[in-house]
Amino acid sequence: MLVNDNFSKVKETYLFSEIAKRVNTFKSNNPTADVIRLGIGDVTQPLPDVCIRAMHEAVDEMTHVDTFRGYGPEQGYDFLRQAIADCDYKARGCDIDADEIFVSDGAKSDTANFTDLFGKGNIIGISNPVYPVYLDSNILAGNGGELTSNGYEYIRFLDCVAKNDFKPQIPKEKLDIVYLCSPNNPTGTALTYDELKAWVDYALENKCLILFDAAYESFIREDGIPHSIYEIPNARKVAVEFRSFSKTAGFTGIRCAYTVVPKSIEVTVSEKPLSLHGMWLRRQTTKFNGASYIVQRAAAALYSEAGRLQIKKTIDLYLENAKIIREAFKSKGFKVWGGVNSPYVWLKAPNGLSSWEFFDYLLNNCHIVGTPGSGFGTMGEGYFRLTGFGSPAKTKEAAARISGINI
Ligand SMILES: *Cc1c(COP(=O)(O)O)cnc(C)c1O
Repeated sequence: MLVNDNFSKVKETYLFSEIAKRVNTFKSNNPTADVIRLGIGDVTQPLPDVCIRAMHEAVDEMTHVDTFRGYGPEQGYDFLRQAIADCDYKARGCDIDADEIFVSDGAKSDTANFTDLFGKGNIIGISNPVYPVYLDSNILAGNGGELTSNGYEYIRFLDCVAKNDFKPQIPKEKLDIVYLCSPNNPTGTALTYDELKAWVDYALENKCLILFDAAYESFIREDGIPHSIYEIPNARKVAVEFRSFSKTAGFTGIRCAYTVVPKSIEVTVSEKPLSLHGMWLRRQTTKFNGASYIVQRAAAALYSEAGRLQIKKTIDLYLENAKIIREAFKSKGFKVWGGVNSPYVWLKAPNGLSSWEFFDYLLNNCHIVGTPGSGFGTMGEGYFRLTGFGSPAKTKEAAARISGINI
């Protein structure tokens, strides 16, 4: 058997195993230390009541022959697609119809699976630092081309640095595909309307497809930050949007997300016009059998008034945690980004320390665990990511420890 040799081109990531190793060593040397984890990229608060109730009801439906459900539509049930179109798009003035929404079991899988639609030789723009899935899924699909001295033949890294507020800058050259994530994981920064509009205009001019990851949309609190890329005129022609209930409503274990592929994105296949929407529909109906009915009922319940209130309460809690972390470091003179429209706080390690040196410093002196920025790309070196997903009590305790550091 011949195997996909792109698996040898994708870089091993030791980030989370190395963190676990260092924390375990610290704990065995300091068995009484109360280690606080502020590095987690996972939610911790329980599901909203409305979801629990909706799931119980859906389970009961499965017990009766008249209401039992087997295979559902691959693209998702109409009740959920319509709720998404009405509440997440039409209510914001975005021209997106229910049949342009594809419900799935995760935004990670959707962003990775979207590479099924790409031909070879596209020039692909990817931020650095970045959520690693965009890069690795393209490498595994063979879209990276040959390995070069500083990366991959077809990948153009968009350096996100302090000078540009950790936002990807529009390149001079033509990209065929670009990944944008706003609010951003790992840097916590969010693109303004004007910044996102500049990308949409670039895409329209250059026939570039934008893959817009809005997994953290529900953390946006400031005006002037688009919740959807379709708030920008003509984005329907050039952008696909990925959203997820994972961070919004605590669905990281339950699994439900959706991808918007507008019908107006035109592509050509063998010189014949085809819609990207049709290609994704074909991809999903061939390789995916839909998210579970029970889970889609839970997701639909989030669009009730009670559901929205419960979501807001939980996100407010995470945002308050992020603010506490941000202010604790700021008052010690650290340079800090994010934590306003995002659960992520991104900071510069002081005194020229590397990301891992600062990881060790924080673990040894404050018994706090974070995530080294270098784990998200070379431009993350010297930076560090903390999150608001911890408990409020532990986050406050961590802030008190941070205020005592002397560095
Ligand atoms: C957490 C996260 C997602 C959501 O992934 P799911 O598979 O839906 O849980 C998507 N994009 C980014 C950048 C994330 O951090």
